[in-house]
Amino acid sequence: MTEPKEHVLDWLRDAHAMEQQAEQMLKAQSGRLKHYPQLKARIDQHLEGTLGQQKIVAECIERLGGSTSTVKDLGGKLMAFAHAAGGMTMTDEVVKGAIMSYVFENLEIASYTALIAAAKRCGDLETKAACERILPQEQAMAQWLLEHIPSISTEYLQRSASGQEAKK
Ligand code: MG
Ligand code: FE
Repeated sequence: MTEPKEHVLDWLRDAHAMEQQAEQMLKAQSGRLKHYPQLKARIDQHLEGTLGQQKIVAECIERLGGSTSTVKDLGGKLMAFAHAAGGMTMTDEVVKGAIMSYVFENLEIASYTALIAAAKRCGDLETKAACERILPQEQAMAQWLLEHIPSISTEYLQRSASGQEAKK
């Protein structure tokens, strides 16, 4: 048997690991992009937000008496995904990167949605409020990516067809 509060702490640790992976992925993507300044700027903006999210989640963990040093299972699995998403070097990496980023943002949305419900169930209103501050940032990034995947894709096609470097 595990108390609901212990699960909340566990899930916060997962969220912290997730945000660390988000940071690595966003940094890698931003560092490679050359010809897609709008995408790069949005990634950099979300990177700033992600660092703030890490702090918010860490504060929740500490308030509940936990530590952020424990890497849990999910952290390891996400690492592989985010590493792949950030380090892609295939010929259409900008398009694949945008798709992977959209998937990752939706993972974050689902994770914070679960945490909000769990924290509410425990009466942990501080954790609930913290996750409710983070969630709209993930939703905004996911929405931006979805709205811009068409133009990113067509710009990629156009650059590729005209013999310009297209992939990054
Ligand atoms: Mg995040
Ligand atoms: Fe995010």
